[in-house]
Amino acid sequence: MTKEFTLDPVINTDVNKEFKQDEYVPLKKEVYVKAADAMSDKGYEEAYLGDTIRAKMKRDKKRFWAGDNISDYVREEDIPKLIDEATEAFETVLDRLLIDRENDPNSHGTARRLAKMYFNEIMSGRYDPAPDATAFPNDSADRYEGMLVVRSELRSMCSHHHQPVSGVAYIGIIAAQKLIGLSKYTRIAQWCARRGTLQEELANDIAKEIMKATDAKDVGVYVQAVHGCCENRGIMAHSSLTQTTVLKGAFKDDMGTKKEFFDNIKLQQDFAPR
Ligand SMILES: [Zn+2]
Repeated sequence: MTKEFTLDPVINTDVNKEFKQDEYVPLKKEVYVKAADAMSDKGYEEAYLGDTIRAKMKRDKKRFWAGDNISDYVREEDIPKLIDEATEAFETVLDRLLIDRENDPNSHGTARRLAKMYFNEIMSGRYDPAPDATAFPNDSADRYEGMLVVRSELRSMCSHHHQPVSGVAYIGIIAAQKLIGLSKYTRIAQWCARRGTLQEELANDIAKEIMKATDAKDVGVYVQAVHGCCENRGIMAHSSLTQTTVLKGAFKDDMGTKKEFFDNIKLQQDFAPR
């Protein structure tokens, strides 16, 4: 027996299609709101908050992939409500997996634990605004002109299977007119990592955000990580290590800078191997 598959009306709306005033969009079972209401900022009380936020992002053509930060659309005070809604959805997932969440003491409360973990921990980099990285001027006569290489521990997860990704990022930078505190490099890297990512995208995102925070044009990011995807499932390879490199400015164009970056990484690895 096959059941007819119904497309999610919010996600599958054609973004290029203009909504008409009298068109109705189903937001929740048996609750229909006028498209105009769903698309307006006032939202709709009876619908899921998550659906209202998705409708706004679609209206604005804002991309909301697993690796995207959507903090402009999610207020801090929305999080408890979104956790409640995700809890309800995870309960359904556990039911469909035929797990007795009523009598199994270990599965009791798992739906809420999952919802909280996604919002507050493993995907927090999607909902939290960028870490505050106060910049200090680096424009005096004796300004620092050398290369800085920061080693940042990363915990992330793959967008495909939601399996853990763990590793380190080496962030190299040739200081521009401003400097940020050393811990900020790691905060920015972790903020980029706490989402559903692909390692290739992650290295790119870190480079982009570091450039934004420092105004530096010369930035290199080298990420090496092991993937739960390859270790816990699929090929079950326990020693799979993936390396990705993103080089910008002098790191890309100047062989000396590039070599210094990788020599520094080698020194760091000898000092703190993993
Ligand atoms: Zn995966």
